Amino acid sequence: MKAIKAVKGTKDILPWEIPLWHQIETLCKELFASAGYQEIRTPVFEKTELFARGIGEFSDIVSKEMYTFQDMGGEWLTLRPEFTASVIRSYIQHHYYQRASLHKLWYFGPLFRQERPQAGRLRQFHQFGIELIGSEYPEADAEIITLACDFYKKIGLKDWELHINSIGNTKDRLNYIEVLKKSLTPYVDDLCPTCQDRFDKNILRLFDCKNELCQQILDTHAPKIIDYLSEKDKAHFEEVCEYLDLQNVPYQINSKLVRGLDYYTRTTFEIKSNHLGAQDALCGGGRYDNLVEELGGPSTPSIGFAAGVERLIMALEAEEKASVQLSPPDLYIAPIDNQAYKGIVKYCTHLRNQGFIIETDLLRRSVKAMMREANRKQARFVTVIGSEELNSGTLTLKHLETGQEYPVNWDNLGEFLEKTILPF
Ligand code: AMP
Repeated sequence: MKAIKAVKGTKDILPWEIPLWHQIETLCKELFASAGYQEIRTPVFEKTELFARGIGEFSDIVSKEMYTFQDMGGEWLTLRPEFTASVIRSYIQHHYYQRASLHKLWYFGPLFRQERPQAGRLRQFHQFGIELIGSEYPEADAEIITLACDFYKKIGLKDWELHINSIGNTKDRLNYIEVLKKSLTPYVDDLCPTCQDRFDKNILRLFDCKNELCQQILDTHAPKIIDYLSEKDKAHFEEVCEYLDLQNVPYQINSKLVRGLDYYTRTTFEIKSNHLGAQDALCGGGRYDNLVEELGGPSTPSIGFAAGVERLIMALEAEEKASVQLSPPDLYIAPIDNQAYKGIVKYCTHLRNQGFIIETDLLRRSVKAMMREANRKQARFVTVIGSEELNSGTLTLKHLETGQEYPVNWDNLGEFLEKTILPF
């Protein structure tokens, strides 16, 4: 029978890849907790309307990338294509604002977008990110951006750049869009078909196009959004930059960084890897001061970022920083026969309960094969058990790296491992 494969654009996270995923999740937990952020977990699917209203009907995500279906009650539901709308829905639904005026949240989980699969672009992928809900001040922007940079520094990634921009408030942006349309109208026919389509629907997305000619047209003829900001928004942006300077966070001001989602206001930023080719964005974020109100909550300025986990792993691999070892067994117990296995099971459980990683054989293999397996798993110690070891109460532990042997009593095994493993 023909074997069934995973759906196009989805990936198994294989057992030997899991240690790196754990490392990333642990860093999220520790780093974000160190700045007072709490984890939030929202459902994988939501009412379709949430994303249509939140992200914007003309965004690429809503117009063509969502996995949307009708449930048995006829309700339209969508597998979440991003986190922010869900987090804000939860914020409003559970009246977080009655508990405190500032909320700091982080998340980690799978998202779903029906994009054309390619390297770094999947249909089910994972993001981690943070949302800071309730502060309008530039120090909030700087905290979010700095935390994103700290994450990449701490995970050991070296070759990346922070790009920042401000896209102002909605009114200034609408004004800018008008000017942009006018400036580019003479060149519409030279744009790629995707950009021609976006020209009327979502012209700011032209800046995301990878086509060289489109980029040349923009470089030569597009006005810079930063020149159309109000004095207040300009001052906000300057202060964000000042805070980044104060913390020695290097950045580039990138006037083409407008981001594809409708809800952004003022600060936008992206961290790009220099190793990922076309899909080079590791992380993207920005301020969304109107979203809470647009989704039915009280007016609440907010800012956040979301980072792709698969892209981070690709970048770590490209920089050869992706090797995380599976935890090796502290002790591999090799029973010479089934009778010996019956004698050791209770010790295996006992030692595991004490916190040691204990492996044994479940394939009734020869001693030689078990020793090979212990070596393959890089066990710290190995011991071969037969009736003599069980009856005498003494066993011999061999330290695999040095070959040194240690006689130990069964009753003292835990204590011995505890004392001996650390020095090694
Ligand atoms: P976005 O929510 O589109 O701003 O994306 C934030 C980050 O998520 C990007 O910088 C990527 O690292 C990652 N990302 C977005 N879309 C995908 C995708 N289809 N496959 C893999 N990673 C993605």
